[in-house]
Amino acid sequence: HHFILGKKKQETTLSVLQDISFQVNKGEIVTIVGKSGSGKSTLLNLISGFIRPTEGGIWINDQQVSDLTEAEFADFRLEHMGFIFQSFQLIPSMTAFQNIELPLILKGESESSRKKITLAILEKVGLTEFADHYPSELSGGQQQRVSIARALVLNPPLILADEPTGSLDSETETELLQFIKQLNQEMEITFLIITHDDEVAAIGDRTITISDGRIVEGARSQ
Ligand code: ATP
Ligand code: MG
Repeated sequence: HHFILGKKKQETTLSVLQDISFQVNKGEIVTIVGKSGSGKSTLLNLISGFIRPTEGGIWINDQQVSDLTEAEFADFRLEHMGFIFQSFQLIPSMTAFQNIELPLILKGESESSRKKITLAILEKVGLTEFADHYPSELSGGQQQRVSIARALVLNPPLILADEPTGSLDSETETELLQFIKQLNQEMEITFLIITHDDEVAAIGDRTITISDGRIVEGARSQ
C-alpha cells in the first residue's frame, strides 16, 4: 500500500540523478520542486518506467517495477498509473468522450461497459455536456479535466503529473487544484506532482526539493 523508491541513478552520457531515496504513502499528495534541469521529469520518467535506473530499484505496492520488462511495464502502467501533462496530451482528432474512453479500449473493456464508465467519469469531472467536443473546442481548464478523466478512468492508485497547471491561468489553476484535492480525499488516490508553482506546491502533504539530481529536502515521509 505504499510506494517505495530505492537508490537509483540514471546514466546516459551524464548522470542525472544520484542517491535518490524516498517513500510515498498511499493517499499522500507529494509535490516535487526544483530548478529547471534539476531532474524532476527524469524522476517521474523513472517511476513510470519510460527510463530505467542504472542502479537501485523502484517499488510500487511491494512490487519491484524497475525489473519489469517493457511489455510487463506497459500493463502495470495501465493498471496502476494515470498521467497528467502540462500540454494535456489529448488526441486532437478524438472527442472528449473518445479521449477518455481510450484506456478502456486498451484494457479490452466491452463497448457497453466503456460507455457506462466514460459517461460516469465525464459527469465526475463536470463535462457531461462537452462529451462530443473536440479538444480544440474546449478551454484549457476543460481540456485538463478531460486529461484528468482519462488518467482516472481505470481507477489507478497513483497519478503522476508533470506541471499540470503550467498552461492554465491562475483562476483555472485554483479550480483544478481544488479538484485534485477532492479526488485525493474522495478516492484516496496518491498524487506525485511536479511543479514550479508555489500554489501547486502548497496543496501537497509534503514537498520534495531536488537540486542538481539530489533530494535536498523532504525525502522523509511524515
Ligand atoms: P524542467 O523544470 O525544465 O522541466 P527538470 O527538472 O524536469 O527541468 P529534467 O528534464 O529531468 O529536468 O532534466 C534533468 C537533466 O537531465 C537536464 O540536465 C537534462 O538536460 C538532462 N536530460 C534529460 N533527459 C535527457 C536525455 N534523454 N538525455 C540526456 N540528458 C537528458
Ligand atoms: Mg521537467
